[in-house]
Amino acid sequence: MKLFTHPEFAGHEQVVFGHDEASGLRAIIAVHNTHRGPALGGLRMWPYADEGEALTDVLRLARGMTYKSAMAELPLGGGKSVIIGDPRRDKSEALMEAMGRLVDGLGGRYIVAEDSGTTVTDMRVIARRTRHVAGRRERPGYDGRPSDGDPSPATAYGVFVGIRAAVAHRLGRSDLEGLRVAVQGVGSVGRRLAAHLAAAGARLWVTDIDPERRGQAAETLGAEAVPPEAVYDLDVDVFAPCALGAVINDATVPRLRAKVVAGAANNQLAAPRHGEALARRGILYAPDYVINAGGVIDVCYEHLGLDPAGLRAHIERIGDNLAEIFRRAEREGRPTAWVADRIAESRFAAGLHRAAGF
Ligand code: NAD
Repeated sequence: MKLFTHPEFAGHEQVVFGHDEASGLRAIIAVHNTHRGPALGGLRMWPYADEGEALTDVLRLARGMTYKSAMAELPLGGGKSVIIGDPRRDKSEALMEAMGRLVDGLGGRYIVAEDSGTTVTDMRVIARRTRHVAGRRERPGYDGRPSDGDPSPATAYGVFVGIRAAVAHRLGRSDLEGLRVAVQGVGSVGRRLAAHLAAAGARLWVTDIDPERRGQAAETLGAEAVPPEAVYDLDVDVFAPCALGAVINDATVPRLRAKVVAGAANNQLAAPRHGEALARRGILYAPDYVINAGGVIDVCYEHLGLDPAGLRAHIERIGDNLAEIFRRAEREGRPTAWVADRIAESRFAAGLHRAAGF
């Protein structure tokens, strides 16, 4: 296994492998970049086939967090961690405590939070062993209502704000009344996003591989439930991927009838060329890490003890960031994802002095 010549290696500052015999912990922490501040990023627990697959994932995800936090103008760098294991079978308090000790060993260069396979409860167990853990405190959420530390409501609100910005740019509309939106995946983020859209008067189509979830979302929101594969063919204005990555690919791009792709899922483009393919078809793509930054903004406010009164406005800056990206992409004839990367790079290359509001 290679590191410095690994295809996903991108100048990462530090990569730490951790093992704990007693609990069975096998974990990797990757710190990509700390120019703007400590590297914050989620802990993913997944039954990776081997450590090579886990390393590939953690390197890619850590780099993505640098771009996400820089774009969101947070005083944070990018990092991520993974535990090799099945969260339904292999998770234990001892395992999470061992992970807490590993995180603590980095002395605050890495701050852990939840990701796929980990929860607020896990973060609270990790907090027994380290204070460098976010996404776990009861506090006022972005809407002033009590939050248990779960970033999903903030993520969903940010995506909603982002859809408004994309619709304004592509369709020249400031309201969402009657707008046709397909939401793929009605889990923690998707169902909350769907609720915001329904409240704004949008017409909704929802899908999920879990038939109960899609049925329930359809019933509570007055949406139409469709089978998972049918979502790409719907005659809608907006396609909102909120399930998994790589859903914008060679097979799906030609099928999409939407004018906008804007959703919460990470790594929506199977490859950068799919961003170009969307642009060629006149479909406006809201780069994933820009539109789904609400969650990291939320946990950053919690962890650094920033004034919660500023949280909602900070999340709403996602709309301004997207508007800037859309304008520049149009002006320069570039894909939106390419423009986003250049803006994010300028923000983390420069370090923190460019960060607004800090
Ligand atoms: P979740 O697991 O709660 O929900 C995902 C939903 O998608 C589930 O209901 C699942 O059944 C469904 N799904 C899976 N495969 C599907 C398929 N092929 N077709 C249709 N539905 C499918 O996850 P979440 O927390 O809501 O996150 C959704 C996405 O947003 C993920 O890609 C995640 O990485 C990303 N994201 C989440 C947050 C957050 O705050 N939770 C922040 C940033 C990004």
